[in-house]
Amino acid sequence: MRDEAGWFSGGQTNAAYNALDRHAHSPRRNQLALIAHAGDGQVHRLTYRELLDRVAVYLPSGLEAALTLLACARIGAIHAAIPAGLGGLALRERLLDTQARLLVAADRLYQSGRALPLAALVEAATEGLDLPVLWHSRGGERRPLELWELLERQRPDTPAEPVAAEHPLFILYTSGSTGKPKGVVHTHGGFMAGTTYHLRALYDLKDGETFWTTADLSWIVGHAYGLYAPLLEGLTTVLREDKLDYPDPGAFYETLEQHAVNVLLTSPTWLRSFRRHGPEWPARADLSSLRLVGSVGEYLAPEVWHWATEHLAWTVDNWWQTETGAPCLATPLCQPAKPGKVGFPLPGVRALILDAEGRVLPPGHKGRLALQPGFPSFMHTLWNNPAGYARAVQDGLYLTGDIAVADDEGYVALLGRGDDVIKAGEQRIGTAEIEGAMVSHPAVVEAAAIGLPDPERGEIIKVYVVPRTPDMDGEVQAVMAQKLVTHLRRRLGPLEVPVEVVFTPQLPRTKSGKIVRRVLRARETGADPGDLSTLEN
Ligand code: AMP
Repeated sequence: MRDEAGWFSGGQTNAAYNALDRHAHSPRRNQLALIAHAGDGQVHRLTYRELLDRVAVYLPSGLEAALTLLACARIGAIHAAIPAGLGGLALRERLLDTQARLLVAADRLYQSGRALPLAALVEAATEGLDLPVLWHSRGGERRPLELWELLERQRPDTPAEPVAAEHPLFILYTSGSTGKPKGVVHTHGGFMAGTTYHLRALYDLKDGETFWTTADLSWIVGHAYGLYAPLLEGLTTVLREDKLDYPDPGAFYETLEQHAVNVLLTSPTWLRSFRRHGPEWPARADLSSLRLVGSVGEYLAPEVWHWATEHLAWTVDNWWQTETGAPCLATPLCQPAKPGKVGFPLPGVRALILDAEGRVLPPGHKGRLALQPGFPSFMHTLWNNPAGYARAVQDGLYLTGDIAVADDEGYVALLGRGDDVIKAGEQRIGTAEIEGAMVSHPAVVEAAAIGLPDPERGEIIKVYVVPRTPDMDGEVQAVMAQKLVTHLRRRLGPLEVPVEVVFTPQLPRTKSGKIVRRVLRARETGADPGDLSTLEN
């Protein structure tokens, strides 16, 4: 049994060299590499040549985060990005797990125009650890170890350190929409090969184009497509620290327009949010440059796909995970889309749908989605946890934890995480099926479904609904809830168990935007909801 996967074994390379030096000494040297909107209103624009000059220095958060990650890669240090604003306990847990030798931290984060203080949280999280903190002080206060002071003393021409192709590039903790976070390890060689392939083949980027990935840099999507892949391919990438709808939804459309973004990669959470704000916002913007939208991170309901394709640009749903490093299932541009179904295994990826005993299921049967590792961007191993890797990849198959079903033409639909599947009597219903059916009702913005234990029927279904009209009185709510249950039964066919609908102004989500159903379940059953500090709200 292997406890790691490999790519370009025995070779030498360096991701930062390929992302920067290669272009800085080519005709692309004066092309914009990176446009970063900081939360304090500053916009930084750097060409490939300038970016190389600065990379010898460690800088955090937004532009600083991008430079810090590249600088680590450059000297062969392994970076472990942790989303700024994550709770102190979660931060400490990750610092202990990685056994970090240095923490580069910002003392504040800008969100919705407000500065959120982080210094006390960082100090508490590192208390008693033998861990120096290199500060990016944004509030004027000076600390003993300051990034900008270090920056001024650095030599700009530090050469990149050649490393083994299988040398770890980074550790990234999984988003925590389910249980305890795992440190996923990706390497220089495989991660470069896998992410750049899909940048061209799936996201269809051409030379000279601008790509905007709205994901936070500290999420796998930010690592792969906010930073590395566009720079490796010599394109221009846009970063934005503040929320996309701050001060209003116009901010999102202005950013697309201002930088003439050609391809956007975002999440269903944001697409649902822009759909709620209405079509007048995109109608007012000049979106003529935008020709493709990628959606990743959660189930993309057909209504949301239709909205995005009509009001933004042709939308490509794509499925992947921190563990897979790059897209695995999607509908390439050359294939017709089936909204609500993500599409096919991409070149190099073999996907199977298995029953509980590990037998391959035919089309039309729901089961556990498994992948055959062997594609370049697949994780190398789990940090500090080779046994965990060996458990995740058994008999040459990696179990993704998701439930899926394929149709006769091979299109795969994702039905939700295995832990979230609702056992309603004899039926097994994916949360995505219920939520997708709910969102197809015009009164619904978004929905989260959970199963609640029931002594006779296994589980009964409870759906939390964010309504389009927030201030309904009690009577109107009762009528609406009844209508939605009828709508659900009409869309999904007979359900064996009762369905309860409740209205809520918002749903609990991770910092990467995923709905966290275990928190809703815990609220209902009194069970332990797990670490809440990893949540956005
Ligand atoms: P993360 O590793 O944090 O990126 O989370 C990966 C999980 O997000 C997957 O296992 C899926 O449950 C979910 N996910 C990602 N992309 C999609 C998609 N296109 N459709 C449905 N679920 C998705």
